Amino acid sequence: MPTYEYECTHCGHRFEKFQSILAQPAKRCPRCGKRVRRLLGTGAGVIFKGSGFYVTDYRSESYKKAAKAEKEGQSDKTGGKEAGRSISDDKK
Ligand SMILES: [Zn+2]
Repeated sequence: MPTYEYECTHCGHRFEKFQSILAQPAKRCPRCGKRVRRLLGTGAGVIFKGSGFYVTDYRSESYKKAAKAEKEGQSDKTGGKEAGRSISDDKK
């Protein structure tokens, strides 16, 4: 019996169902009850891996950017304080 993999189109929950080819495919997400789609088997796995790599890469890139922006925002705060100090010193 093959194992089918499903992914919820609503919450993204993934689950596997071990069932006969003749059995009705799962239609509902066990978590939120919305519709699920069946992920394709081994044949499409290669294609999925390829696009999955791209998605992961893109995600990590934006994650890096977000982390960097957060860091810069923190140093900006301390930097801004010092700049403000020197400006008021100039006014004196
Ligand atoms: Zn769901």
